[in-house]
Amino acid sequence: MFEKFKEWQENRHEYAKEWKRKTGGKVIGYFCTYVPEEILYAADILPIRILGSHEPQDLTEPHIFGMFCPFCRDCLAQGLQGRYDYLDGITIAQSCLHIRQAFTSWQMHVPVEYSYYLPMPHHVQSARAYPYLTEELKLFKKSIEEWTGKTLRNEDLDKGIKIMNENRRLLGKLYELRKEKNPGVTGLEAMYAVISSQLTDKREHSRMLEEALNKIYERKEKNSNLLRLMILGSEDDDTEFMKMVESLGAIFVIDDHCTGTRYFWNEVIPDEDRLASIAARYIDRPPCPSKDWPERRRVPHILNLAKEYDVQGAIIVQQKFCDPHELDIPAITKTLKENNIPSLFLEFDVTVPLGQFKTRVEAFLEILREEDLWS
Ligand code: SF4
Repeated sequence: MFEKFKEWQENRHEYAKEWKRKTGGKVIGYFCTYVPEEILYAADILPIRILGSHEPQDLTEPHIFGMFCPFCRDCLAQGLQGRYDYLDGITIAQSCLHIRQAFTSWQMHVPVEYSYYLPMPHHVQSARAYPYLTEELKLFKKSIEEWTGKTLRNEDLDKGIKIMNENRRLLGKLYELRKEKNPGVTGLEAMYAVISSQLTDKREHSRMLEEALNKIYERKEKNSNLLRLMILGSEDDDTEFMKMVESLGAIFVIDDHCTGTRYFWNEVIPDEDRLASIAARYIDRPPCPSKDWPERRRVPHILNLAKEYDVQGAIIVQQKFCDPHELDIPAITKTLKENNIPSLFLEFDVTVPLGQFKTRVEAFLEILREEDLWS
């Protein structure tokens, strides 16, 4: 039943090209999950997230410093190789410098009709972030209107909000099932569901999610007696890694990734001022560590998730050279340790050494099993 999500993820370009052919609409590629897709859906544009392909390449050397994260280099490589040549536009909301460099190089070297940089505030804990982002969203909306020649009315924004919120709610229901003692859905399946939602028309994705949810309830074979794991850290769409870990007697029951909960966790709360309500949703969402200061709100959020989902151990992955996430790791490991949740840290590159990682994961699971035995 999760085959469709897997297929959409693997054939993302074919999906977008077919969508364009069928609808005659525009497709925008976005670089970070702080981009307010509500405004794009309001304009009948299909937003799709630009992700890497996990293949080695040397194209980006002249454009991006070697000590920038492999994820942003992998994303830019896709543009330079022409894999996204069907895009009508690209956009980014400020998150970290590395991914912004990928956006800027793309703007300079890959022909595209429309591009927009949205200055999403870093200091999201400031009360001034709400009016600031609302004003920025007005400019973004105006720019989209000028590009498409279509005025976005309140009804259009309501449509965009509804499409996004419905998808978030359904993904929330899927994640709710992962709290069960024997979850009817694996971490790999959940990853396919969330990533494919970033690559497809949310209306079609939501219908597929509803079907999947109905079938999960009927699933006979449940995942019992597996070690319950959490996975957290930088951007992660490495399905091969998920598959490998889940083949060793463990199951991922929750995550904190921008290809997971950080993407869909909270909804837009509709209000008379539509742009202000959209801005509030992005200010209040579970933060990327690049925006989590001066108070560290991500750490207690992760601990809450670990408790709610009854996690026995955590795997913390970090894209090599990702400064925002690296900075969070000491605080996260310390908090998890204080709460008797062992963790394993792994550094990800464009390709991950599955054999080497397997040995380390096996040793980690062994420790968890021993702890389980004596607890
Ligand atoms: S993984 Fe880290 S460095 Fe790379 S784009 Fe994300 S936040 Fe930035």
